[in-house]
Parts: sequence; C-alpha cells; structure tokens
Amino acid sequence: MSTGSGQSAPNMANMPALNDAEGQRVPQEAGFVIDAHVHVFPQAVFSAVWKWFDAHAWPIRYRLDARSVFDFLLARGVGHVVALQYAHKPGIAEALNRFMVDICRDYPGRVTGLASVFPGEPDAPKILEKAFDAGLAGVKLHAHVQCFDLNSPEMDEICRVCSRAKKPLLIHAGREPKSPAYACDPYEICAVEKIDRMLDTHPDLRLCVPHLGADEFSAYARLIESSDRLWLDTAMAVTDYLPIDNPVRLSEMRADRVLYGSDFPNIPYAWDRELKELAAAGFSRDFLARLMWKNARDFYGISLNFNESEAYETIA
Ligand SMILES: [Zn+2]
Repeated sequence: MSTGSGQSAPNMANMPALNDAEGQRVPQEAGFVIDAHVHVFPQAVFSAVWKWFDAHAWPIRYRLDARSVFDFLLARGVGHVVALQYAHKPGIAEALNRFMVDICRDYPGRVTGLASVFPGEPDAPKILEKAFDAGLAGVKLHAHVQCFDLNSPEMDEICRVCSRAKKPLLIHAGREPKSPAYACDPYEICAVEKIDRMLDTHPDLRLCVPHLGADEFSAYARLIESSDRLWLDTAMAVTDYLPIDNPVRLSEMRADRVLYGSDFPNIPYAWDRELKELAAAGFSRDFLARLMWKNARDFYGISLNFNESEAYETIA
C-alpha cells in the first residue's frame, strides 16, 4: 500500500496480534547484538501505554515491567540494550529520567539509558543537562505523542544542548505508524525535509530516526547517503507487519548508518521476529555486524567490554 501524498494513510487502529513462534535465543547467525530500541517506563505509565496501544494500535504481546524487559532480552542472548522513554506531557521528564538512571545502575555495562524531555517545557535544557550528568547517553523524542514542530525554537534549544554535550538525539520523526488518536496529524508535522533542515541548522547534531523513517523510506535512504550525522533504526520496519510498503532494500542502504532495534516490548509479535528476518537475509558478515551492534555502539558511544573477535565466537 502506498501512502504518498494524495492517498489516504493506512489505519493502524485494531491491528492484529500475531501468534508467531518465538525463539529461545538470539539466532546464531546474528552474532553479537545491541538492541538499540527498547521501551521501559515506570509501571503506572507502562500500564497507560498498554491501554493506549490496545485501543488505538495493536495488542502488546509482552506486558513486562521495566526490569523484566531487560532480564527477558539479556537472558535470551541480546548483548546490550538501549532503553528509551518519552514524556507525553510537560513536568514529568525529570521523574522519568531519574527512573531511567536508577534502573540502568542495576545493569552496568548491559543497558544504556536515554533521557526524555517535553519540547518547550520550562527548563528543558537544564533537565537534559542534569540527565547527561547523571549518565544518560542521549535523548528520545516522539513527534506524534509530543506534537512539536521539528523546526521550532523549542526544538532548537534541545538540539543546542545535545550538540554542546555531544549527545545523540533519537526522534520519531517519520509519519508512520500514525494513529487518529494522536492530538496532532503526523502527516502535517513530520517530513524528511524538516529533518534535513534540522541537520543544516545544527552542524554538530547527530540524529537517528527510527522505523527506517516510515513511511518516507526512499527519502530517508537518500538522506543518509548525503549526511554524515543521520542514522536510522529498523524497529518494526523489517517485520512484514505494518501495512506500509518499504521499497528500499536494507542491503543497498549505507552500511554504517542503520541500527538494529526491536521496539520491544511494545510489539504484537514474537520478540525475535525482526532478528530472525535480518539474520536470514543473506547480508555480508561486515554489513550484519554493523547493523547488529557496531553502528549502535558508535552512535550512542557504548563501551563494550569485549574485543571484536569475541563478537563472532557464536558464529565462528
Ligand atoms: Zn518505539
């Protein structure tokens, strides 16, 4: 299904649960894996998120609390997790960031946490500086939930803090998956041109757009060719689930620009669905290693306590 301008966007409400089989471990062919897109929240927020997904998107298969999310993935062989959350309203980011710092402390070397902030809220720069000082490695924003303009003074102040602190920004800036339940129309506020402009305005900013930029796949694939400060993650985009056609072949995309991420646990299918797909896609060993861990390591500045040859022990 095409979602180009002039055609109606697919309706993401009431998407089905898939009862696909799950594996017990990361597929051997994948090698070492950093899952660069994992959601955690304090329990009350998590429960509210599940309820929202049930009503407006898809049934979430793994209703785990934050620690169980990490334990689940690490026990199945994921080597490192990048954890993120977003503030759906002003005034809660500091509490979310404290929660993230505390929980990451229990998983030294295994979990990298990102900060959240609500663009335009009072003291947004201070909230982020504090979070970075406490060890959070970047910032996650969600344009659909937070309804901000990507090219606005409130975003500029966030971009300046990130640039100064050399911290990357992960920002759901693609138009899909959209829901009529959002307070703003993602087709009006999100566009690859706005991301391009943001990179121009902030010459030291490093950005990642999740879901391969859904649904502007081709435009984002072109932009990573020309920008050395833009990355994409795969979350939910290589699972044959969302009713959006991706005309871009991953193997033809810039190899140092794409990060594997699952969107776990907010998914309606097996935790390893995308991993299996990627591991079986016939990529070169070099491409797969970049996709599975090297690009995430470089983008988020993750220090891993193993040398490179160990990453391949499982597939040697
Ligand atoms: Zn996500």
